Amino acid sequence: MNTILVTGGTGYVGSWIVKGLLDKAYTVRLTVRDKDNTAKFENLRQIALTTKGKLEIWEADLLEEGSFDDAALGCDAILHVASPFTLRFKDAQRDLLDPAIKGTRNVLYAASKSGTVKKVILTSSVAAIHGDTKDMTEQGLTEFNEEQFNQSSSLTHQPYSFSKVEAEKEAWRIAQAQDEWKLVVINPSFVMGPSLSSLSNSESLNFMKDILSGKYAMGAPAIMFGFVDVRDVAKAHILALENENSQGRHLLAERTIDVLEYAQLIEKAFPQKFKLPKKHAAKFLLLMVGWMFKLSSQFIKRNVGYPLRLNASKSREALGLDYIPLEQTVKDMVTQMLDDKLI
Ligand code: NDP
Repeated sequence: MNTILVTGGTGYVGSWIVKGLLDKAYTVRLTVRDKDNTAKFENLRQIALTTKGKLEIWEADLLEEGSFDDAALGCDAILHVASPFTLRFKDAQRDLLDPAIKGTRNVLYAASKSGTVKKVILTSSVAAIHGDTKDMTEQGLTEFNEEQFNQSSSLTHQPYSFSKVEAEKEAWRIAQAQDEWKLVVINPSFVMGPSLSSLSNSESLNFMKDILSGKYAMGAPAIMFGFVDVRDVAKAHILALENENSQGRHLLAERTIDVLEYAQLIEKAFPQKFKLPKKHAAKFLLLMVGWMFKLSSQFIKRNVGYPLRLNASKSREALGLDYIPLEQTVKDMVTQMLDDKLI
């Protein structure tokens, strides 16, 4: 493995993957939508100068058929990270589903056409494993692991999650129909931690900005999430790339807690600095004012007040991932946001 194509390397998660590969002296072929928009990757150029790795910039768009073919020629592996992670979309099909599914198809077909790519690492999500938190008890499960696929999301309910499950299923379909390259999938839970990119609109950064700005000061929704450090997500991709035996899916989560418990970690690291929630918001109140938080009543009904457990033992045992404690993740993320004047 020497030359690695990375899609989505300008984003929050992708930047750390690119940095990790450059630190390990790989040649990274970064695809961007517009090569002239140098502000998107100038930070990575600067990082490349401090490493033994080499950064190449190529142009490709998830929505254009054949767009990744040239960039994939001569690459040993592809890390397909790019996919829109936004809750602020106008048309779910156009803005989420199409780039996720058509993009996956375009990137994986480019792997097949290259004749050189031997491994593809796909950034999927825990959203491809489960949709609503209520799914767990409804399906008679005590936890989620790599065996489940999200069954409750659709184009109209949790469309981002739907885009991830459909894209991952498409990736497995394409992978199983060929034997040129092997597919390994990473399924991170909610990613937190410092950002290398000030231009990302990732919902990870929006979530943290919302909490710190006092959006939930009156009460936090009792919704549970798995959380994982962005640097561990990058590490997991590189471990999966380098480990010859890596196979299948890998759920990543350091722990699973609700929004109030997450806010308490911030309070502990930065006492009385932010207007953080001190209690849960009542579900009936959330149902009345949910629209202010862009939460549909169906979402509130199926996600507030349910337990969620995620089993990430495969990532520890098969990849050897040793998670950064969430306390550290939160501290480093807030510090970076303060330093960069993002809050
Ligand atoms: P970002 O928005 O920061 O990154 C998204 C990346 O995808 C950007 O590099 C963006 O490029 C690229 N992209 C989007 N649309 C296109 C397109 N049409 N053509 C080419 N590139 C495109 O989000 P994250 O870093 O948070 O997410 C990265 C991946 O991680 C996604 O697959 C997401 O689903 C997954 N993930 C994220 C989690 C999280 O909590 N953040 C959790 C689990 C999975 P550009 O810079 O041009 O916009």
